[in-house]
Amino acid sequence: MTGRLQHFDMAAVREEFPILSREAYGKRLVYLDNAASAQKPRAVIDAMAQAMEHSYANVHRGLHLLSNESTAAYEAARTTAAKFLNAASVDEIVFTSGGTDSINLVAYALGASQIGEGDEIILSVMEHHSNIVPWHLLRERKGAVLKWVDISDDGEIDLDAYRAAFSKRTKIVAISAMSNVLGLATPAKELTRIAHENGALALFDGCQAAVHGAVNVQDIGCDLLAMTGHKLYGPTGIGVLYGRLDVLKRLPPFRGGGEMIDVVTTEAVTYNDPPHRFEAGTPPILEAIGLGAALEWMMKKGVASIASHEARLTACALEELRKLNFVKLYGQARGKAPIIAFNVDGAHPHDVSAILDRMGVAVRAGHHCAQPLMKRLGVSATARASFAIYNDSDDVEALIEGLHKTHKMLG
Ligand SMILES: *Cc1c(COP(=O)(O)O)cnc(C)c1O
Repeated sequence: MTGRLQHFDMAAVREEFPILSREAYGKRLVYLDNAASAQKPRAVIDAMAQAMEHSYANVHRGLHLLSNESTAAYEAARTTAAKFLNAASVDEIVFTSGGTDSINLVAYALGASQIGEGDEIILSVMEHHSNIVPWHLLRERKGAVLKWVDISDDGEIDLDAYRAAFSKRTKIVAISAMSNVLGLATPAKELTRIAHENGALALFDGCQAAVHGAVNVQDIGCDLLAMTGHKLYGPTGIGVLYGRLDVLKRLPPFRGGGEMIDVVTTEAVTYNDPPHRFEAGTPPILEAIGLGAALEWMMKKGVASIASHEARLTACALEELRKLNFVKLYGQARGKAPIIAFNVDGAHPHDVSAILDRMGVAVRAGHHCAQPLMKRLGVSATARASFAIYNDSDDVEALIEGLHKTHKMLG
């Protein structure tokens, strides 16, 4: 993505997020749980309210004014998502209910058509459960075989192990474009090239990557990519499955219902073309409109500018965290996005987060839906601080101060 990097007026950016004006236990709200879900700017809240107050009706089926306006807004969100990902066509954008739903759709539809007993699926050990369990279901249902690629101690994918994981039976690689625990991106373009050389499809879990930098599906060359609305400053209940058109055309439906059909008789049914084939029933109309507004808002701010702001903040946070000899950091490779997993010596991460919470600092603690990664790191859980566009150096300071206090209390 080109364009001049802008430096944000942080007070103005923060004002766009109504929730940031509230306090937590009488203290400044320091929201560092963005990798779980981001807060919403006024632009998103207003777009959804406007849709409900002014143009609400069901989509596609009506021939009246409100239905047409609602359909136009819903389809405009699809166009925005296509632009955001640089998809070649709007028909490559399927609206789903979230990142999890996007990956389940792929696993189910591939399992129904192209993956059978003994066929292989390549995953990495740092996947989110959303990109593990749908494939386990396929293993259970179809006898597919899961092949796991390890990471280095620094958190980078082991490319030699990746190359070695392919066989004639490999049907698809399903790998995160960015870990939701370590904040490290995988070399998606390279991984795709190797997958294609081996005749396999390449699916990326882009739920984090799409938040913290430009994801250009044509440049990556991937076949499929999942992302989720609520981490992109949009609402819950909406996600995107990008699929190259020829790939989507070869996938059978995931769910049956209205809108995904061509002709239905009492004897038989024929299906609509992608993307509608995969959008059975009344879709999440308001949520799609909200996501469209969120993506427009991000593009207006500049995806690269957001990433650059986050990179400065992350560098500053890492520098301060490395000074704390009682804090252990995970995933120390270069180029870390603003997702920082850590532990405090001698303290359970749940206690760390509970103490920080009382100081107004919201971080997450647990296995982060990545139990195989926890096992690889040799821990049962970590704390995780993650930044977004509205976080600033005051937030980093609050985190560091909170960790000093935590260490005094628990260490
Ligand atoms: C959040 C997340 C998911 C799941 O997305 P949902 O919106 O919860 O369905 C999948 N993968 C990664 C990497 C995530 O961060």
